[in-house]
Amino acid sequence: MEHAQLKADEKQYVMQTYGRFDLSLDHGDGCYLYDLDGKAYLDLTSGIGVNCLGHAHPILTRALQEQVGKLMHVSNLYYTKPMVSAAKQLCEATGMKKAFFSNSGAEANEAMIKAARKYSQTNYAMDRTKILTLVNSFHGRTIATLEATGQDKFHQYFYPFTDGFDYVEANNIDDVKAKADDKTCGIMLELIQGESGVRPLDPVFVRELEQFCKERDILLLIDEVQTGIGRTGKLFCYENYGIEPDIVSMAKGLGGGVPIGGILTNEKTSTALQAGDHGSTFGANPLATTSADTVLSLVNDPDFLKDVEQKGTYFMERLKAIPSERIKDVRGIGLMIGIEVDPEEIGGLIQACMDRGMLVLKAGTNTIRLLPPLIITKKQIDDALNIFEEVLA
Ligand SMILES: *Cc1c(COP(=O)(O)O)cnc(C)c1O
Repeated sequence: MEHAQLKADEKQYVMQTYGRFDLSLDHGDGCYLYDLDGKAYLDLTSGIGVNCLGHAHPILTRALQEQVGKLMHVSNLYYTKPMVSAAKQLCEATGMKKAFFSNSGAEANEAMIKAARKYSQTNYAMDRTKILTLVNSFHGRTIATLEATGQDKFHQYFYPFTDGFDYVEANNIDDVKAKADDKTCGIMLELIQGESGVRPLDPVFVRELEQFCKERDILLLIDEVQTGIGRTGKLFCYENYGIEPDIVSMAKGLGGGVPIGGILTNEKTSTALQAGDHGSTFGANPLATTSADTVLSLVNDPDFLKDVEQKGTYFMERLKAIPSERIKDVRGIGLMIGIEVDPEEIGGLIQACMDRGMLVLKAGTNTIRLLPPLIITKKQIDDALNIFEEVLA
């Protein structure tokens, strides 16, 4: 009843920009979410990779409660402890030199694009501004990050765009070499294309790309909005590839549920943006950075990360062993997992999971995407596998 009323009011009062599941959620606890009637759902979505510590994590909840009672916001005109502490943790963990905090993934990528262009314009020429991105990438919904997104279907109705992006095929170094020229300042990419289908890039391509970029001082801009903060068993996915990015963007898992994003810059790019070049009213606010500081203090731990890696490997191996013709492919790294199925069947399969009390995501047209909380237990993974076996039988 309550759910029906919510649905009706949502339709009347909320812009209809989202296709939603027929489910109203009330609260969560660990890896479980509960609807308005108290029915439990095993959450393999983490709010699209955000709730890395699950729901209502006691340490994160307490840290945020304390911070709310102390200071939520003061603007970037002043120093605060959580902001400095979160930045310090990120730099010390990665060897990157400096952090900038934004409120979302798209804004993090905007900061990355601005820093890259300014670096290139001040060190080379004012027209060295082009950024290459990959076909089937996803970088956000603002005008610039939409343009960076290499999928035409997202572009329609939103022209004109800013000039300055071109698209290359993933895993095709020749295409990169053909399209990069002396006007190119950076190449921006996800190491696992998330939204378009959980597709890890070929490590050989990524290393060739790094080499190519280094030779020309084209900046390597890694979008870790989805893959970052422990998701792939390393604090950042680029560590799995053994590369050194010039700038890294992050967001989803960083606040464990509180909206926050940001970038990390290396020696070269750290000084590109100077006072007055970039900013955000809400960015780095004490509430948001307390979340990041707390999440990092738990996730940036060798045992925690090793556990994510092992659980991911176990999950994927067991999924691959399910004897179902319906599974075309299982791929991913750590706890970022895609199960490719027939596009005709995917809607029904996701609904069947939900009916059995398990929430999963879709990526692209044919991939069931799993982004469980990083704290998921082996027992909960086994429960999920049982549901998949039933649904895929
Ligand atoms: C989700 C996502 C974004 C956009 O993040 P928002 O917080 O929705 O703006 C950008 N890049 C990647 C790789 C993402 O997965």
